[in-house]
Amino acid sequence: MGKVLIIGAGGVGNVVVRKCASVPEVFSEIMLASRTKSKCDAIANDIKGVNIKTAALDADDAQQVAELIRSFKPELVINVALPYQDLPIMDACLETGVHYLDTANYEPKDEAKFEYSWQWAYQERFKAKGIMALLGCGFDPGQSQIYTAYAAKHHFDEMHYLDIVDCNAGDHGQAFATNFNPEINIREITQDGKYWENGSWKVIPAMSIHKPIEYPNIGPKESYLLYHEELESLVKNFPTLKRARFWMTFGQQYITHLTVMQNIGITSIKPIKFKGVDIVPLEFLKALLPEPGSLGENYTGETSIGCQIKGIKDGKDQTYFIWNNCRHQDAYQDAKAQGVSYTTGVPAMLGAKLMMEGVWMKPGVYNTEEMDPDPFMAQIGKYGLPWQEKIGLALPHEY
Ligand code: NDP
Repeated sequence: MGKVLIIGAGGVGNVVVRKCASVPEVFSEIMLASRTKSKCDAIANDIKGVNIKTAALDADDAQQVAELIRSFKPELVINVALPYQDLPIMDACLETGVHYLDTANYEPKDEAKFEYSWQWAYQERFKAKGIMALLGCGFDPGQSQIYTAYAAKHHFDEMHYLDIVDCNAGDHGQAFATNFNPEINIREITQDGKYWENGSWKVIPAMSIHKPIEYPNIGPKESYLLYHEELESLVKNFPTLKRARFWMTFGQQYITHLTVMQNIGITSIKPIKFKGVDIVPLEFLKALLPEPGSLGENYTGETSIGCQIKGIKDGKDQTYFIWNNCRHQDAYQDAKAQGVSYTTGVPAMLGAKLMMEGVWMKPGVYNTEEMDPDPFMAQIGKYGLPWQEKIGLALPHEY
């Protein structure tokens, strides 16, 4: 039993609040704080029978976060605002001695670059303070690494090849929309692709490697090699990996829109003068696009995210595939959310629950694959994201 402070009232925040509220034996009191308090109130008022406190908060300001923590006194802060706020919120947790969890690694606002170095640098300070930070506990990052850790623990002596395959075969009915924060999403997709091979990173132009990958219950979908943050921690924590890649599907309509927007410069993060005012084109674009949390009601189809792994077990070649499929309509029914917010928010809640219960608790800063995967894997199905596996079968695409 304990108090949790959730920061960020967007698509993912909505799911985390609802899922935490459904486990009152662990999350006895909940506060939702975000930049726009009315968004917190709208979520809180829609959850019947549970008293959820709300607050306005600018989480770019560590002192404001620390003050809110001091007044509410949570055991844990779940950060589902934007990656820009990771460091100020971690600073506030350090100052007040409170545990921390997020779903995306830090990136500076003025440079489209994400890496763990900034957050890993808190390791000794979190240890010394006796508090824990769990980084990237959404689906990918998050559950993708827990799947990999589960595979390593139960199905491999050595893992050699890892492909994380992420498909959204859904239709939200909009000409163009992103499934999580548009600014963060477009920054991620428009930067160079990168994958790990034979001990070093191979960098490729954005979206330049793609091929159809077969997804369970969906079929083949064109999938693009992207750089994704969990690759950085996975190759560090599983050094036997010879290659690690991340693939994501995009429809032709999405690519066409994105190409046009890039060509006209509206995805740029360099400020321009407009009528005497500095504006960042991508921030302006974000203001025009639908909010991720608004897409759920009419979303059809499903997501499929999994890990395809090849390696050695008992001296023999072993192949393994583990995945979850999530229907957007089921996500909406359970948490008034589309599948991408849902598949992020559910693992965040379960990671937080395991921390609050002391099952996943050790001082320091950790990625999800450093935790024992078994308690998570035993419970995640019950909270809405059941998994399936295939052992020792030919993988659906060539290596
Ligand atoms: P949204 O844009 O829907 O929500 C972000 C929320 O954060 C908004 O409510 C916003 O407030 C709030 N916010 C922004 N800046 C501040 C600030 N300075 N102080 C307080 N609150 C702030 O995004 P999503 O919910 O889709 O994404 C949330 C996070 O989840 C992102 O970091 C994203 O990268 C991550 N994510 C992780 C995934 C995973 O699998 N690991 C997958 C998908 C997302 P306002 O409403 O006022 O703008």
